[in-house]
Amino acid sequence: QFWHVTDLHLDPTYHVTDDHTKVCSSSKGANASNPGPFGDVLCDAPYRLILSAFDFIKNSGQEASFMIWTGDSPPHVPVPELSTDTVIKVITNMTTTIQSVFPDLQVFPTLGNHDYWPQDQLPVATSQVYDAVANLWKAWLDEDALSTLRKGGFYSQKVPHNPNLRIISLNTNLYYGPNIVTLNQTDPASQFEWLESTLNSSQQNKEKVYIIAHVPVGYLPYSSGITAMRQYYNEKLVELFRRYSAIIEGQFYGHTHRDSIMVLADGDGRPLSSLFVSPAVTPVRNVFEKQTNNPGVRLFQYEPHNYTLLDMLQYYLNLTEANLKGESDWQLEYVLTQTYGVGDLQPRNLYGLVKQFAALGSKQFLKYYNYFFVSYDSSMVCDKKCKALQICAIMYLDQASYTDCLKRYL
Ligand SMILES: [Zn+2]
Ligand SMILES: [Zn+2]
Repeated sequence: QFWHVTDLHLDPTYHVTDDHTKVCSSSKGANASNPGPFGDVLCDAPYRLILSAFDFIKNSGQEASFMIWTGDSPPHVPVPELSTDTVIKVITNMTTTIQSVFPDLQVFPTLGNHDYWPQDQLPVATSQVYDAVANLWKAWLDEDALSTLRKGGFYSQKVPHNPNLRIISLNTNLYYGPNIVTLNQTDPASQFEWLESTLNSSQQNKEKVYIIAHVPVGYLPYSSGITAMRQYYNEKLVELFRRYSAIIEGQFYGHTHRDSIMVLADGDGRPLSSLFVSPAVTPVRNVFEKQTNNPGVRLFQYEPHNYTLLDMLQYYLNLTEANLKGESDWQLEYVLTQTYGVGDLQPRNLYGLVKQFAALGSKQFLKYYNYFFVSYDSSMVCDKKCKALQICAIMYLDQASYTDCLKRYL
């Protein structure tokens, strides 16, 4: 088993006070909606919320071999309110928090687009932030991993006590739309070249691979025709993931703050790879959004001999209740195979599931859409267009097949 946590987005200024414009700087002057000890939906996470998540994991009784942590520690605040120094301080705080709660746990971290100053502008060469995290993550990563982390913010490393299982941690922030540093570059930080040769040698060595990264490949499930990465990079990654799908047993992302899946298929519609986007720990939304997510963390179960994914357990905190009671009662939200009646998390099973989602009035899809927001508001309705965007984003990750899909459904 392994844990996946993502998008902690600590807001160190969070404090409950009568003037609701002053509860947190991440509300950017807006009134916090109903602030309590575990946070508010217009604010990033108070330290107490983040600690409650890690305490829950620690006391869950679940034995895990490792944890993946896919980035975004600093708060959503205007660029001038942060600095390289504060960003490094927040990442340091989160790292030492994890290390003190889990002194013996192997953690595989990745950087998010907020783990840099100015945000999104992660560079293609050595930087203060890459250097700082390489020092902070020494307890978890080996020398080879630290060396590429210092140069480009990515690494790969074998999982201890799991023979022939390798984690590849990508810096997909280099491909993120708002990153102007990499505009017009065909292979920022030579990460594609490195990824291809890493996958190639994994194949030679009969290893299995889990891909972890912050910004996901594919299309955003809540908007029409928008990839999280720049189009060109998205196509390149999709091509590489298809070519090496025989050894890639799973892909794990963050960044959207929502709970979603994707199934990468080949040109003939044969499912090749299962991808999982984990919801955030922060509950934050901006003032213009109606919906947000409850805080979530998740546990994956895998077959110890060949590393195929067996199941996923999603846990969450009902933020409203936690604030009312003054205590955090993290609960199991759903078990993927049980809630959807699938055998395991292999691509062919998820593909079959999405075909059920696509059916008119699918009850399975209603569940999926409620879990998308981590059970924040079960009265949410997904109309025809909303559903088409969701289904096409789950099933089609490249431009040609995605565009085709939208034409068929809309
Ligand atoms: Zn985030
Ligand atoms: Zn992000």
